[in-house]
Amino acid sequence: MQNPFENALVQLEKAAKIMDLDENIYEILKQPDRVLMVSVPVKMDSGEVKVFSGFRSQYNNAMGPYKGGIRYHENVSLDEVRALSFWMMIKCATVNIPMGGGKGGIIVDSKKLSIGELERLSRGYIQKIWREIGSDKDVPAPDMYTTPQIMGWMRDEYEKLLGHADPGVITGKAIADGGSEGRETATAQGGVYVVRELAKKLNLQPGETKVAIQGMGNVGGFMAKLLSADGYKIVAISDSKGGIYKEDGLDMGAVFEFKKQTGSLSGFVGAQNVSNEELLELNAEILVPSAMENQITVLNAKNIKAKIVVEMANGPTTPEADEILAEHNVIVVPDVLANAGGVTVSCFEWEQNNKNERWTEGQVFAKLEPMMVQAFGEVWETKERYNITMRAAAFVKAIERVASKIKI
Ligand code: NAD
Repeated sequence: MQNPFENALVQLEKAAKIMDLDENIYEILKQPDRVLMVSVPVKMDSGEVKVFSGFRSQYNNAMGPYKGGIRYHENVSLDEVRALSFWMMIKCATVNIPMGGGKGGIIVDSKKLSIGELERLSRGYIQKIWREIGSDKDVPAPDMYTTPQIMGWMRDEYEKLLGHADPGVITGKAIADGGSEGRETATAQGGVYVVRELAKKLNLQPGETKVAIQGMGNVGGFMAKLLSADGYKIVAISDSKGGIYKEDGLDMGAVFEFKKQTGSLSGFVGAQNVSNEELLELNAEILVPSAMENQITVLNAKNIKAKIVVEMANGPTTPEADEILAEHNVIVVPDVLANAGGVTVSCFEWEQNNKNERWTEGQVFAKLEPMMVQAFGEVWETKERYNITMRAAAFVKAIERVASKIKI
């Protein structure tokens, strides 16, 4: 397993060299501003007390309050949280929202907790970090295995401790709790705006373009729906148990219905079953990893046939694999741009809460689209200017923005 923070530092170093970054700024950006490490005792239903370890990494707030999700997973570690908070800084700056980079996590297998235990853990975590968060300081959100309900408990606990309302302290809340319309589809919708811009640059015709999607959760599922609505041929899709492939395109409506009925994709009529590893190497023009990190590695990068990889998952490509893809002239639309629609709409939620407004889904997407189009255009222009990959270009553009706000 690669150390994700080392990967992040390699990316920072590359960008710093390309843009000839001021050495003092480079030193500042090599570590988070602050990392909180907390122990959260939780009284379990059995009466026994278990102590969970949690983190909150606040990487940089030059652009605005720290922003980033809270992950509940057994593999959460200090290095993972630090790396993810760094990437949030880059992502927010790539789309130019007034937010910095943050990330949190608790080492826990939340599926083993009862609902009451989960609530006590979530409230306990906030009791440990509440002085360092707030709508003007650090704004958490959901991530793996954290939900709108958990965000609601966290906001409630925070406001009790604070003594007054501050709904913008946390995003990803349920709509009734101050969440934003459009958040559910925002990440995929943002990805689709980016794919449309790329299609214009490369003169891609949707009807003749095959797409393979790994994952069909919130991101992969909506990507499949929206891209097939745009006319793309979705030839493969998968979930954690494996995927299906049909050379002349899957009827996505029927696929979703089949999965709903049977709980799985395997056996979908007219399609061939494929493993998640095989899916990555299929014959398709566009590959959309939308599930897990570290899927495209040094072991399979040279077998990828797609000419375009749209990284909807966070960190699906290892740095070594990234180099191999670049050597093979594969265009990789990096996660910090491709999936930034999610954090952008989270930022809209924060803005609505702070101004006591409620926007319709139409208003949300009318604001999202030009921001994604602008970010794509800037990254593309930076890529051309330096003759670098889109990932390097996104990092350069983002670091230029953050650096311009750091006063030393
Ligand atoms: P999700 O939990 O809704 O869905 C994950 C999907 O991946 C499911 O279909 C699951 O079956 C599949 N999966 C799980 N293990 C797998 C494996 N080993 N191989 C292949 N598929 C597997 O999650 P999501 O919200 O869709 O997030 C997917 C990715 O997108 C993650 O990397 C996440 O960090 C990233 N992301 C999500 C958002 C968002 O708004 N949801 C925003 C930015 C980035």
